[in-house]
Amino acid sequence: MSTAAQTPPPLPAGPLSVHVALVFRDQKKDKEMSPMLRAAVAEAEAFYNSGRQRIQLNRYSISETPATDVSREWVFVTAAASLWRAVSGGAEPRPQPAWQNVEVEKAKEVLPQSRGQFTGTCDGEHLVKVVCSLTGLGPPDKLIILVDQKIVPPEGYIYVIGNSYGPENDKHQSVISLTQLDPAHWNIRDPKRLATIKHRIRSLLILYIGDLLGLKSCHDPACFFYEAVDNPESFDATIRLGADHIDELMGKGFNLPSGDEAVIQPIADNPKAKGGQQLV
Ligand SMILES: [Zn+2]
Repeated sequence: MSTAAQTPPPLPAGPLSVHVALVFRDQKKDKEMSPMLRAAVAEAEAFYNSGRQRIQLNRYSISETPATDVSREWVFVTAAASLWRAVSGGAEPRPQPAWQNVEVEKAKEVLPQSRGQFTGTCDGEHLVKVVCSLTGLGPPDKLIILVDQKIVPPEGYIYVIGNSYGPENDKHQSVISLTQLDPAHWNIRDPKRLATIKHRIRSLLILYIGDLLGLKSCHDPACFFYEAVDNPESFDATIRLGADHIDELMGKGFNLPSGDEAVIQPIADNPKAKGGQQLV
């Protein structure tokens, strides 16, 4: 085995355009999870744009019921602006891209086409097509969908947390299941349930966006790119970027959410792992 230090692959020259869509079939879950998910998306974006802009993130909200809370949105935009000032060393914030809401009637009409064989499931490949038709996106656009349903697993799997699709298996369109990341789905009592889901989603977003940027997996269990993340709990330990990915972001990550999980957390240097220990 070689012990020589690996050279990270070069990143794309300009910011990579990535599209993130929240898809809710269940109004209760939309209300409960949307604020926390929007914060997680903002954090993943701030992480990659720390120091310089590496991604351009476009946001879409797709729901069969209108559940936008305007006051919450305002708090969100304000918090995102202050986070930007902090990471950019006090520069004036770029306008925070708004969440584009897809028309409810349209969503109601086409979302059922992505229904899976069983209740509460969706066919990931169909969902990608439906979201593309609702947003006007399509290959080769890079799209990550977060959905409040289980994804019909590929043959040979019992369940999947996320799966990627795309023509010729280029994997540029992905679906992540919020349900599979929810401790309640596994009958686990978690007093910080929403904070747990937020942390897992943030790690997954960083992983999936990094994948689109060409970052490779590694052997570091605390790193977002740990090769052996294969169940919801394994994401609880991924809290920062390890070596050999993007040098300027090495060691940066996020502490576990505490307090209001809808508040946008700052980027941490050498964040604390579960149980409060500082990593070395
Ligand atoms: Zn790593």
